[in-house]
Amino acid sequence: MRAGQTHGKSDARPPAGGASPYARVVPRAAHILIVEDDEGIGANLQRALASGSITVAWARTAREARSSARDEPPDLVLLDLGLPDGDGADVCRALLAAQPSLPVIMLTARNEEIDVVIGLDSGAVDYVTKPFRLAELSARVRAHLRRVSDDSRIVVGELTVDGPARRAMLAGVEVELRAKEFDLLEALAAAAGTVVRREDLMSDVWDEHWFGSTKTLDVTVSSLRRKLDDAKPNAVLITTLRGVGYRLEP
Ligand code: CA
Repeated sequence: MRAGQTHGKSDARPPAGGASPYARVVPRAAHILIVEDDEGIGANLQRALASGSITVAWARTAREARSSARDEPPDLVLLDLGLPDGDGADVCRALLAAQPSLPVIMLTARNEEIDVVIGLDSGAVDYVTKPFRLAELSARVRAHLRRVSDDSRIVVGELTVDGPARRAMLAGVEVELRAKEFDLLEALAAAAGTVVRREDLMSDVWDEHWFGSTKTLDVTVSSLRRKLDDAKPNAVLITTLRGVGYRLEP
């Protein structure tokens, strides 16, 4: 979209507290990464979980897990703690560094409490002990996936804006934002690559009945830029289109 064109904003505003008018939700199959060196367990998991709406990748080693997640970022990971070439907890930390809100379910050996502690300390969201019942594991997987699909996270390069959690992450580091800074970032990120007009930002981020100065918008953009730059210099570029609005560069 060129500067000066009307931003494609619908007249129908969502109810207060609803989804951002810019939110993009792209339905697709969920992708699960299984990391398990035991052939029997891995095959059973794959058979139980793969379906029309779920694709499954199976890695047998820590090394394979990292490369699979890089090639096709998963929506959820089932991760065995004891891998032939490394520790599942280390794999968990590596995956979360790239995808901070990725749900990881640890598969641990029975009654080894130390494993459980390590598993949760590494950032895993849940764990199951072996042997586990497939039906129970499937139910937990579906519960975690539902949480993910309810989510309208926006990802632009190294920036992730998690609307439901109201968290902004840049290169894996949380950026502490005030409420208006977050709303502004969310509106700009959801429309990344296109200009968002000043009046749309004023009405959506501040108040639909706004008639006054837009100085507060410029001040908030400045503080937002400063906080993003503090988190990682030059990682997010917000371009000013004088008299028109702002564009977050993809
Ligand atoms: Ca194992």
